Amino acid sequence: MTSALATSSGTRLHRVRAVCLDIDDTLVDYCTSARTGLVELLGDDQSWPMWQRTSERHHARYAAGEVDFDTMRRQRTRAFLTDLGRQVDEEEAAAWEQRRLTATERTWTLFDDAVPCLRWLRSAGLRVAAITNAAGAYQRRKLAAVGLGDAFDRLVISGELGVAKPDPLIFHTACAELGVRPEEAVHVGDKVTLDALGARDAGLHGVWLDRRSLGDPVPSGISVISGLAELPDLLFRLETPAS
Ligand SMILES: [Mg+2]
Repeated sequence: MTSALATSSGTRLHRVRAVCLDIDDTLVDYCTSARTGLVELLGDDQSWPMWQRTSERHHARYAAGEVDFDTMRRQRTRAFLTDLGRQVDEEEAAAWEQRRLTATERTWTLFDDAVPCLRWLRSAGLRVAAITNAAGAYQRRKLAAVGLGDAFDRLVISGELGVAKPDPLIFHTACAELGVRPEEAVHVGDKVTLDALGARDAGLHGVWLDRRSLGDPVPSGISVISGLAELPDLLFRLETPAS
């Protein structure tokens, strides 16, 4: 636990009343488990970059409402296998995807800074929600598996709401359910566009969790942190904005 988490614990915030967090690659180390699942099926992770590109393309279609989550998963896997030179039909793609998912689920795990951060948010008296783009049952199963089934005051899942990040409605729904105004809420996530800019444009304070810290440019009107242990200090800075 960092000094920020340790020394700020128990101190009340006033301007910020709620914190919303993304789940995958924010609290849950999804990339590592997905990569592990791929290795289990293919024997190595040489195709991991291709999987990431294919996955991002298909997730964008899901977020835009063009396709439901389960269909997206099957189509994504079929496209990935095609790129690998394996021609499979829908049924084979679905079976391969199920094996990949089973292998992935065995290694679902939290980042080390997730639980300390959630505990600190509670000790600071903040309301806490998760906002995530995924299917409801799938994401609830994942949270239960990593021990966060009861960690949030509200869980806002795109597959249940019918709209996905970065649509302002999903952020406004979370705020309304938490009983706070958007300007009283912070949203933290690993995707700069879906999470940080989406939240900013919905009137919340958007925070980009850039765990890789590669020095990518930071768009205006958002904050960036490289780990969840930096969140308490950021929240205190938001209490006293520069004049
Ligand atoms: Mg994410």
